[in-house]
Amino acid sequence: MALIVQKYGGSSVADAEKIKNVARRIVRTREEGNRVVVVVSAMGDTTDDLIRLAYQITEKLDTRELDVLLSTGEVVASTLLAMALHGMGHPAISLSGAQAGIRTDSAYSRARITNIEPRRVVAELDKGNIVIVAGFQGITEDMDITTLGRGGSDTTAVALAAALKASVCQRYTDVDGIYTTDPRLFAGARKLKDISYEEMLEMVTYGFKAIHPRAVELGELFGVPILVASSFNDNPGTLIKKEVSMEIRNKVRGIAHDLDVAKITVVGVPDHPGIAASIFVPLAEAGISVDTIVQNASIKNITDLTFTVAESQLAGAMSVVRPIAESIGARECVSDARLGKISIIGTGMQNAPGYAAKMFDTLSKANINIQLITTSEIRITCIIEEALVKDAVIALHRAFELETED
Ligand code: ASP
Ligand code: MG
Repeated sequence: MALIVQKYGGSSVADAEKIKNVARRIVRTREEGNRVVVVVSAMGDTTDDLIRLAYQITEKLDTRELDVLLSTGEVVASTLLAMALHGMGHPAISLSGAQAGIRTDSAYSRARITNIEPRRVVAELDKGNIVIVAGFQGITEDMDITTLGRGGSDTTAVALAAALKASVCQRYTDVDGIYTTDPRLFAGARKLKDISYEEMLEMVTYGFKAIHPRAVELGELFGVPILVASSFNDNPGTLIKKEVSMEIRNKVRGIAHDLDVAKITVVGVPDHPGIAASIFVPLAEAGISVDTIVQNASIKNITDLTFTVAESQLAGAMSVVRPIAESIGARECVSDARLGKISIIGTGMQNAPGYAAKMFDTLSKANINIQLITTSEIRITCIIEEALVKDAVIALHRAFELETED
């Protein structure tokens, strides 16, 4: 009997009818002869609603209390799902994260799983139960409830699958797989049969909000294949796994984009040791995460330093950088929030030349100016004007022939 971990997102359990629909799907998996562990998210927008409610009580939230509050969203969903299964005549039991043995550190609202002791889960499976685990939560050594950060139920599911040595982690939401690019932006996007962990990680890190990056990292680390599919239909999904077949290695697999990009340039910086640190250390201390960093070659010991941040962090970043720029004798500090990021991703790029050339050529033919460029071994990213991102996606999708089947 195979052990399957299924995870259902908030939109899949948003109301009573949808919970029953999920229960029917679980029953089907069970009746195919599998042992089933299910991880659920909170119903619909419950987590947002609870956060809003907490802020109506006080501006200064106590994170320990907040975590207990937020963890209830997933507990509610898991109990209702267990009841739906009982209603259909199937033995099932709901467990909180703590009961399922999910141990975390004590960083409230962004806790990390330290280990999983799935004894109770296994015991319940052995009794013939379908086990429903509340996602997004765990417990510290001191028995305090923690949450894993927004979107953390994906992480719970993959971690549990790893701990239980499940054959697959099936993650169901309202989207039916991973596409070559965001289908809402470009209708010509094609669903992928499979994608490697590495490629998926680059895709999600560079703006393709398909699954939580931590879940993909865990999947890769423990070799858990992750199926991304819809709970609303039976379309085949996309399998995130170790290796994609040899023939398609030599291809761009996906195009990610991100509109949430702002750029800061510190102009006319005296070029001597310690300057970069004097800017980036305080930014890190202020909790601002800096993405692309480019320092120009200096002329007469004067250089420009450019970096990008999320648009929501621009004001905060400018208030940190402005006084520093002044104190180190920079000429000025300018910013631009109307930027976007476009990335081509594929493991095949590693050993094959020409991808960068083709990307730049395609953008130039579409009259799109490239402001900054960064790369990894399997990704090339260009920062361009935000308004041109859609055109860039379409042009690149055509140029790299992503419409055609693998
Ligand atoms: N309910 C939590 C959130 O909305 C966790 C999750 O859905 O994965 O962030
Ligand atoms: Mg922008």
